[in-house]
Amino acid sequence: MARILLLLGLLVLALFWAFGRRRDGTGQAPGGRDPVAPSSGPQPMVGCAHCGLHLPQAEAVQDGEGRWFCSEDHRARGGRV
Ligand SMILES: [Zn+2]
Repeated sequence: MARILLLLGLLVLALFWAFGRRRDGTGQAPGGRDPVAPSSGPQPMVGCAHCGLHLPQAEAVQDGEGRWFCSEDHRARGGRV
């Protein structure tokens, strides 16, 4: 009886392995990349020189002196006095 259960277990494992391999070729691989993850990885954060708000560098505005601002308005107002 134990041998039959062992054979059934091996058969189930083989079926899972075969279907898993077939799915790897076409669909999404298990444990693959997260589809909602940003493509560029972690973004550097910068702080606004006027109000101190931290935001991703891609959304920040930079002035001629290399300072970062959260918006065009704060860039026009300049750094913190
Ligand atoms: Zn700001």
